[in-house]
Amino acid sequence: MPGVTQIRYASSTGKSFAETLQQLLDRAPDVIHAGEIRDLATARIAIRTALTGRKTLGTLHTSDAVSGLRRMRDMGLDWQRLAESCHAVVSLHLVRRLCTDCKRRVDASVNPPSREIKLAQRLGVPPAFGAVGCKGCAGTGYKGQVPLAEVLELTPPLKSFLASEPSDADLLKIAR
Ligand SMILES: [Zn+2]
Repeated sequence: MPGVTQIRYASSTGKSFAETLQQLLDRAPDVIHAGEIRDLATARIAIRTALTGRKTLGTLHTSDAVSGLRRMRDMGLDWQRLAESCHAVVSLHLVRRLCTDCKRRVDASVNPPSREIKLAQRLGVPPAFGAVGCKGCAGTGYKGQVPLAEVLELTPPLKSFLASEPSDADLLKIAR
């Protein structure tokens, strides 16, 4: 892809992931995708890069968006640094998509409670469809996946709140 440079990280070179990332920064990119942020050294470089005004993207393995902030703090970054440099945390989940050829509308008053009905009721989005299964989906009732994104934008009020070094419970409450 024109304009895109990718550097392969290999531990066999003797360089750490953070050192490799630093090497990439020496090329003065406009946007940097740090790959997985797995240690404090990498997180610090990512934060420093963001503070210089470069759009910086990184990946963390967590269960939700708030946990992304917690993970960075647990790595050793302080809330103040995160508040200064982080714009948003996006949590992505892939869920199975119902097969469009065989999915069936389900009625909560007639059908026994299924996962689909429970979810539809929880989200307030009836009517719900349920999985059936056909040749096109190998009898599973599902075909393909759909991403669900949870976006936690670090708004000015949330950034101020982070400066107060909140507990995990308070952070989740405010973020919601
Ligand atoms: Zn099907």
